[in-house]
Amino acid sequence: MATGPLSAWPPHEARMADRHAARPALLPWSDSQARLAALASGIVEYAPQAMMALDASSLRIVLANRAAHQLFPGVDDDQLIADTFPWMAERGLLAQLTIVAGTGEPMRGLELECEGLPPFTDAAYLRYDIVPLGEPGEVPLAILLVVSDATEEWLERQRVEQSAFNAQLYAERIEAVIEQLSEAVVIRDADGTLVTYNRAALALARNRRSVERARARGARLEPRWVWLQPDGTPAPEVELPSFRAMLAAAPVSGFQFLVRKQNGREIPVLAHAAPLRDELGTITGSVVAFQDITAVKEVERLKDEFISVASHELRQPLTVIQGNAQMLKRHLKRVEHGVPLTAETLHSIAEGVETQTARLNLLVSDLLDMSRIQAGQLRLEQTPAPLVETVRRVVEAQRKAAGDHQVTLEAETIPTIAEIVGNWDVRRVEQILMNLLSNAVKYSPRGGAVRVRVNVLPHGHVREQLHGRPRRVPGPAALIAITDEGIGIPEEALRRLFERFFRARNTAGIQGTGLGLFISRQLAWAHQGDLWAESPGAGRGSTFYLVLPLLG
Ligand code: ADP
Repeated sequence: MATGPLSAWPPHEARMADRHAARPALLPWSDSQARLAALASGIVEYAPQAMMALDASSLRIVLANRAAHQLFPGVDDDQLIADTFPWMAERGLLAQLTIVAGTGEPMRGLELECEGLPPFTDAAYLRYDIVPLGEPGEVPLAILLVVSDATEEWLERQRVEQSAFNAQLYAERIEAVIEQLSEAVVIRDADGTLVTYNRAALALARNRRSVERARARGARLEPRWVWLQPDGTPAPEVELPSFRAMLAAAPVSGFQFLVRKQNGREIPVLAHAAPLRDELGTITGSVVAFQDITAVKEVERLKDEFISVASHELRQPLTVIQGNAQMLKRHLKRVEHGVPLTAETLHSIAEGVETQTARLNLLVSDLLDMSRIQAGQLRLEQTPAPLVETVRRVVEAQRKAAGDHQVTLEAETIPTIAEIVGNWDVRRVEQILMNLLSNAVKYSPRGGAVRVRVNVLPHGHVREQLHGRPRRVPGPAALIAITDEGIGIPEEALRRLFERFFRARNTAGIQGTGLGLFISRQLAWAHQGDLWAESPGAGRGSTFYLVLPLLG
């Protein structure tokens, strides 16, 4: 039973009787006061929202309309609202009601998710206003809680949000996969506007650094790609894979282009493209995937080089050997006619065969070494070995072969030179030294001194003489420097000297395969050492540095 300030309101029993017996429409319409009162109570009773009038001081339910009874079965007039909804304090509703009751200020547009809170067992979402019943600014005697059930709308909103979230998750997942692809991917819409691209694509962009800087500032800058034909001329737009795919309305594949990077390097790429379509099948854009095929091109180049070197370098000594054999046959024919064959002629023929056979041998073992290195099957037979003895042996052998060249062996600042011992494969160290010394002689066609210096690096610290770049050597090491006064090495060739089959352009007329330095460096690395070259330029001599770690 309502008590206190609201006791003037119709008693509870009468109201209940009203609800069930006296329908407002049956009141006498002639009495305008009564008509208005009936209308007012009818509005409240039949309002689509649940309405509960609460006593402002006790927060007891004074009146609950039909919709309130439907929404909250079990709600009882005259009941404390806190008993009806025991969870209201912890969900903030009690505080809101108390504030409105205390201040007379309404609170509108409030929302509450009350899944599982009595009387709700399933999903439930309420939207409500708390309105003071009284003049603005006055402390109200009663407050009105107007509640509408927004569960359906809320569930729908959740469904929409969930599917948007799923779509976004899916898109993000796809984007993450595209981002991680090693293939460059660029997606454009139908008018060519860039939609998205991945990391690999950015790496090949002409303005990569500017795009990265803009990204770091949170700004957006479009990457640009420079497409060239394989011959280096600009590729017309109609030739580009994205254009072709849109034109053909079908995937196109297998196009080779060059893409010019920011550093000016032209990277060979293999490109494929496909049109993108919407659900109705209309073409909305294109996706282009392209891939750096430098490695493939390099293999192709090596194969070509191998065939040309092998055919040229193998054929030459074979031709000489064949020539010598023919010469011998001619001499033998003459012997049949009584012309004597001198020991000198025989000696010269034998020597020719021997030299060319040695050359063939060297070439075959270089080719074998190269394929072993490529297959990762280079094996060293390392034993503790003194260095200086090995160097002397190779220098002596070269001195004999060098003819005009003055080959000198210098050992600098080594008080205990005999003690330079390392864990080396002596045969392989000899091979490196032999290659370096024979190159020094070979690439000094006008003669000149070839100096060999042996030094000890107690801590393994060593820098290039000309550029000061540090070279990495683990612990104490021996440094062997071989300097010649020959044709030198052009600046641009220095970087590529140790590549397979590479020969500098100033080697015209000097035989070679471009394999020796590649093998020598691999052998030095296999010993945990290093090998590099320095030269002040073409025509000004060169120095090759070999570093080998010492024992202990
Ligand atoms: P090859 O001598 O058979 O060509 P290498 O691998 O030994 O092969 O050498 C590769 C290239 O390095 C040579 O073709 C030459 O251009 C350059 N080179 C090597 N040694 C010297 C040197 N001492 N002086 C000048 N250039 C050299």
